[in-house]
Amino acid sequence: MTTFAAKEASNPSVINTLNRLREFGQSGQGVNRVAGSIADVEARLWILAQLEQGGMIAEIDEVGNTLGRSAHHERAVLVGSHTDTVPTGGWLDGALGAVYGLCTALELSQSTEHTGIDAVSFADEEGSYAPCIGSRYFFGDEYSEQEFIGTASRLQLSLASLGASRPLTKRLPRDWSKRYKFFLEAHIEQGPVLEAEDIPIGIVTGIVGIRRFELTVLGRADHAGTTPMTMRSDAGRALIELLNRIDIGFEQIKASDTVWNFGVVAFSPGAPNVVPERATAVIEFRDRSLDVLAKFEATMRDMVRAQADQVPHLASLRYSLQCTAQLEPIDMDVRVIEVLSRSCDATGVAYRMMQSGAGHDAMIAARHLPAGMLFIPSIGGRSHHPAEDSRKDHIQIGYAVFREATKYLCTLDYD
Ligand SMILES: [Zn+2]
Repeated sequence: MTTFAAKEASNPSVINTLNRLREFGQSGQGVNRVAGSIADVEARLWILAQLEQGGMIAEIDEVGNTLGRSAHHERAVLVGSHTDTVPTGGWLDGALGAVYGLCTALELSQSTEHTGIDAVSFADEEGSYAPCIGSRYFFGDEYSEQEFIGTASRLQLSLASLGASRPLTKRLPRDWSKRYKFFLEAHIEQGPVLEAEDIPIGIVTGIVGIRRFELTVLGRADHAGTTPMTMRSDAGRALIELLNRIDIGFEQIKASDTVWNFGVVAFSPGAPNVVPERATAVIEFRDRSLDVLAKFEATMRDMVRAQADQVPHLASLRYSLQCTAQLEPIDMDVRVIEVLSRSCDATGVAYRMMQSGAGHDAMIAARHLPAGMLFIPSIGGRSHHPAEDSRKDHIQIGYAVFREATKYLCTLDYD
């Protein structure tokens, strides 16, 4: 394990560390470091080595969470993100926050007085097997036996093929609720807003809630050449008409940051000369307000009911609407938001408040600890793609603000 670390101990600069981490699973411009893969586990062993060299207590738990603890403090601020990627993803999603955490802990942990800084890389944030299993396991949130066993066995297999003999810690740390005061995560924005407004820092006020529904229309398959238009039970046309109405309805009730997506549409049997018998769409919408989410759901249900009731030539069609995913919105802690904005002021950096439209480990952490997040701009808003990148000066500015905020959080007490 220490063989990775021997060459590059002396310079803990953020860009160097990010570049070194990129080598694990690098694939052209991008990185393929799916949770539990050899590259993911190799990267985690390398992080362990860095933490150990920096004098921290470094451990990896049964699902792959990688943690460095300050040896000299009873209490700590927890900083970090994840180092797994989507298949052939970018080099900064997760890595940026994990490296900010690692570098901040190595740089500052010895110098803070009463509170240490612990650095974490959570396992499988991207959900290649079980979404956010690392942070859910760490904080004692719900997870299924199957999620745990699947994640743990993938980790074991990769550890074995790497010949790594490090014993795993059962759960890290067992006393986390007494130890941690705050959680802070940095991330690339993964969207175009900061770049478009030329603002280097986004302070996250909250993470959106998500509702996902599967809408199904059932009709009858017939010959598409011989069956007159008025005599069809065409599930395909009915679905398209309904999606169009729902889209117009959403447009009328949206809040300023609401987003929605008709990301999956499928017709069956799916042939040019057959009237579709079955048509399905997956409809997803996201907002920070429970009221807005409820309003969207009610509007959608009304429209489905109205179409089922009203349109005579589609009367023989059947409609069903199933909720397939529901994630509640969560606010970031006001004290952490305040500390982040002060840190921007102290560093002389412009910032804006914004919501996160994507899920992050901070979403899990925020259920248990006062948590906060900061974003830096993504070039062209690209992410989950090898083209994902951020300007070097933005990476440096983000680190300066993150480091300042972590230092400040160490001085705060809330209980
Ligand atoms: Zn991420």
